[in-house]
Amino acid sequence: MNRERAKAAIDWNEIDTVLLDMDGTLLDKHFDDYFWEEHVPEVYARQNKMNFWDAYDELMGRYKSREGTLAWTDLDYWSNELGLRIAEMKAMMNHLIQVHPFVIDFLKFCRAKKKKVYLVTNAHSKTLAIKMATTEIESYFDAIVCSGEIGVAKEDVEFWERLETKLQIDKKRCLLADDNEAVLASAEKYGIPKLIFVAKSSSRKPVVYSKKFPSIIFFKELMEEK
Ligand SMILES: [Mg+2]
Repeated sequence: MNRERAKAAIDWNEIDTVLLDMDGTLLDKHFDDYFWEEHVPEVYARQNKMNFWDAYDELMGRYKSREGTLAWTDLDYWSNELGLRIAEMKAMMNHLIQVHPFVIDFLKFCRAKKKKVYLVTNAHSKTLAIKMATTEIESYFDAIVCSGEIGVAKEDVEFWERLETKLQIDKKRCLLADDNEAVLASAEKYGIPKLIFVAKSSSRKPVVYSKKFPSIIFFKELMEEK
């Protein structure tokens, strides 16, 4: 397996714009995993008088059928679909939201190098609001873009074309870091040259390197000069 690491692959003189995913990339995905895979099935089972594993299997199937679409991250969609108050439930769990190690250092590093830094996320605006209110990262971004406002998910090449128009970026001088290979693949098709896979999206899950994209465990690896 090619375990190429991003280390030494970044020449910061070639980068003007840093595009960063939120969940799993900057923030610990444990929060989302716990919320969707444990907390929601638990509440759903109680509400529908089912046992946990029946509720779990049903919900996993329903999530899967929406993966890679805007509905997947739409809290209002899931509230209607499941008969639960998802946004309120999420807000009550916000003590579990954590920023990954070295992320703040990396954001400061990018600002010190005068790079434009954008958060680009498939997250729903309500999720985004909860996470920005709980963490200290919002002030480091030049702008935050949700795929909901773009109209398509990041897995779609169209997302990047519309983003270019919106932000006036030069795609040849962009770096994108994401923990989703399908997103990196669509960005590659669009023409972003520097693509970084975040191999440890959750503090509770093992490192899984991408076979296709340079992988990092922590952002400190991108701060080592070439
Ligand atoms: Mg992500």
